[in-house]
Amino acid sequence: MFKALLITKTDEAGYRCALTELEEAQLPAAGDVTVRVDWSTINYKDGLAITGQSPVVRSFPMVPGIDLAGTVTGSAHPRWKAGDRVILNGFGVGETHWGGLAQMARVKGDWLVPLPKGLSAREAMAIGTAGYTAMLCVMALQKHWAETGTAPGSGEVLVTGANGGVGSVAVALLAALGHTVVASTGRLAETDYLKGLGAAEVIDRATLGAPGKPLQKERWIGVVDSVGSHTLANACASTRYGGAVAACGLAQGMDLPASVAPFILRGVTLYGIDSVMAPIKRREAAWAALAQGLDRHKLAAMTTEIGLAAALDAGPQILAGQVRGRLVVNVNA
Ligand code: NDP
Repeated sequence: MFKALLITKTDEAGYRCALTELEEAQLPAAGDVTVRVDWSTINYKDGLAITGQSPVVRSFPMVPGIDLAGTVTGSAHPRWKAGDRVILNGFGVGETHWGGLAQMARVKGDWLVPLPKGLSAREAMAIGTAGYTAMLCVMALQKHWAETGTAPGSGEVLVTGANGGVGSVAVALLAALGHTVVASTGRLAETDYLKGLGAAEVIDRATLGAPGKPLQKERWIGVVDSVGSHTLANACASTRYGGAVAACGLAQGMDLPASVAPFILRGVTLYGIDSVMAPIKRREAAWAALAQGLDRHKLAAMTTEIGLAAALDAGPQILAGQVRGRLVVNVNA
């Protein structure tokens, strides 16, 4: 038997997520690697799954958890053998295939990446999909800056949703690369936390969150946006000539009420960042860069540890924007 969160949906009881015990024989047959999960995490999407606020879970019953780090206990996949330390992000796990908020998982070997050297399983899950997505954003911007000859320190980089998981990791990564980071947040009381992660300045997200002009004063050489909607539109409108915006999230909204002006008059580039189906090579590059470039003290400062039962309460909290940084889940607690 192993412990797991389980989401069920029935006509009588509706949509429910509860802590339960399952048998290994109940693990999905569609998978060629069995993993003993050591750590998992709560991302924004896990909040949507746990609460049922948005239809991210598409088959029932479902074990949520888009991330896991653990040890292979059995494998019919040529790349993996018992004892291998692995991580998994996305690929529909926790949405269409049983996920990581459990002590055991059976998954496809094609979805796994090795735990990178120098990172513990707990650190990998403290980073989680949120941090790995932040790195995908930073990698897109770095490639753009390399092509345009833009040096760190030559202008400001905006990070929106800065107190969230993607935002916190993005602030720390960009600051470590020598960039002047401006953190946008609705929680100005967390200014010291954001400066501790490396933000040079903290601004009120209200300055970006309302409808704005199609072209605004040029300020950013780059942007990491996890918020979408008017915030993303205003970020594009205030990006400097030839700059770039990496968009990965929708915490404010899925809409993009923008004009083409920044793109056709200032040559601004908008990069769309997807972590879920990103190819394995890009994942491995992102995880290697995280293992090398993310300050462990800053990671510790942004991480709160909870147990599996507490993950149920964390779902609504993350959707309400009440979680600072990252939540790592000890599935064995
Ligand atoms: P978090 O909940 O940890 O962070 C989101 C942050 O956005 C909040 O902390 C808050 O920051 C800000 N925010 C919340 N509501 C609003 C609002 N109404 N207006 C403006 N800002 C708001 O989530 P994550 O960091 O894990 O994820 C962020 C987004 O990125 C989500 O939309 C998620 O779905 C998406 N995502 C996408 C991925 C992809 O593959 N494309 C992968 C991972 C995440 P503050 O308090 O500082 O204002």
